[in-house]
Amino acid sequence: MSESIHTSLKSVRESDLCIGCGACVHADPTLQLTLDPTKQMWEPSHDGNELAASVCPAISVDFEGLQKRLFPGSEIGPFGVVDSVMLAQSVDYERNRAASSGGLIKELLVSLLESPDVDGAIALKEVHGLDYKPTLITRASEVDDLPGSIYHNLPKDDVIRLLKELEGKYVLVGIPCEFEGIYQYIFQAEPGLAERIHSTIGLLCGWQYSYHAIRAICQYKGADFDEIEEISYRGGGPVGKLRMKTPAGESSASRRIDFGYQAAFDRTFNTPRCHLCINHSNFLADIVVGDAWLPSTVGTKTGISLVINRTESMTRLMRELVNTQRIVVSDVTTEEIKESQKPRIAFGNFAYAYAEYRERNGLHTPDMVGPNRESAQLVDEAEVDRFYGELVRKLELQRQRRYRFLYWRKATKELPKLFGRYWEWFTVRILRVKSLKGEREELSRDQISIFR
Ligand SMILES: Cc1cc2nc3c(=O)[nH]c(=O)nc-3n(C[C@H](O)[C@H](O)[C@H](O)COP(=O)(O)OP(=O)(O)OC[C@H]3O[C@@H](n4cnc5c(N)ncnc54)[C@H](O)[C@@H]3O)c2cc1C
Ligand code: SF4
Ligand code: SF4
Repeated sequence: MSESIHTSLKSVRESDLCIGCGACVHADPTLQLTLDPTKQMWEPSHDGNELAASVCPAISVDFEGLQKRLFPGSEIGPFGVVDSVMLAQSVDYERNRAASSGGLIKELLVSLLESPDVDGAIALKEVHGLDYKPTLITRASEVDDLPGSIYHNLPKDDVIRLLKELEGKYVLVGIPCEFEGIYQYIFQAEPGLAERIHSTIGLLCGWQYSYHAIRAICQYKGADFDEIEEISYRGGGPVGKLRMKTPAGESSASRRIDFGYQAAFDRTFNTPRCHLCINHSNFLADIVVGDAWLPSTVGTKTGISLVINRTESMTRLMRELVNTQRIVVSDVTTEEIKESQKPRIAFGNFAYAYAEYRERNGLHTPDMVGPNRESAQLVDEAEVDRFYGELVRKLELQRQRRYRFLYWRKATKELPKLFGRYWEWFTVRILRVKSLKGEREELSRDQISIFR
């Protein structure tokens, strides 16, 4: 990877690679995060200074150094630091059903907020409509007011602002790139803030979307984007529907089967750095929660979480939650991380190949080598080249707001690819071809029967 010195955020802004972590805003107080009207994503108001560039995870992330600081003495493998891996579900039916996967984050927060060592938690909370902000909560009774997964990009600079303002110890809830920015800022600019962090609960994260995705689905569903009062992407079951409320009523789209959803939440609507992300499984968080997308869990009615405990104390906390009958747990292995997330996500098979492609073509590329690099089997250059051509074209169409054209493109030219994806999902998850071919051992009935 290149060792070029960046004196500002110019290349990040020019290549649309901001993910909204907010680290730069604290490194250079002349900066603000603003929603770019054309890109429909948050990014810094101007190029800022060298310190802003030095903390920015769209320029570089020192995964090895950060993991060594956060988990001293721990072995770092292809999945990062792993103490244990579990499937888990909240025993509280309503909490589980309302949540995105197993309701685990809320169970963890309730328990941590009851502990005398914790003064509060900083987690994303709804303000109004599409606006969500990192917010301080101090009581367990506030936990169920937090949303499920919010898939559009948002400014996260308030996390560091709150850590600066507060005394005491706090639990942070965040997506992987958020922690990349927060820790780079802390260790480079204000190491004393590390004392404010009691622990971190990370989400597994496959992607986030620009607001173009929401504008597109609004057009397909006849909803008014500017009038959205409430949005929820998940809940009400393991996959859940996207629901948007406006004064005219509620619009919804099924994430798996609604064609409008497939067109609007196509991966080219992601914020562009997500295509380069090699940290989907949150290497810097103490505990990571994602969906258990496994053949054995496909029948769940309410959702099951995949949990990676990176520290012994998080494994202990999970066992305490079992003993106090708040959650049920099955112990599994890192094999389930790979199966649930697919190697493309777990090892960055596409992202590392895309990074090499960008470097070869003189495009700005974040300098990132994760613990998964050696396990990555890079996709071939032709695939990346095709993807990049399509990305450039589709971003242009999104920025011209030609969402209807994108819908019909998906329904015609791209239809075989979409069917291919469904077929793969059906054969792997439903027909369990890997187990039939002896390539994988499914979880036993005992391991799964404890879940709804
Ligand atoms: C953008 C995004 C992409 C994701 N992609 C995947 C994926 O590809 N594979 C996978 O297995 N899991 C993914 N997840 C995680 C998954 O959707 C669930 O959030 C996770 O399993 C936790 O479920 P839960 O039932 O415990 O949490 P919930 O009870 O649903 O709680 C969610 C918690 O996360 C916080 N939160 C919600 N959205 C955000 C956000 N954008 N940024 C920071 N904090 C947030 C809320 O404040 C709340 O505390 C993603 C989540 C997000 C936000
Ligand atoms: S990725 Fe974070 S640090 Fe970099 S420009 Fe965006 S908000 Fe600033
Ligand atoms: S995929 Fe990676 S870059 Fe994109 S939002 Fe998730 S953690 Fe951030």
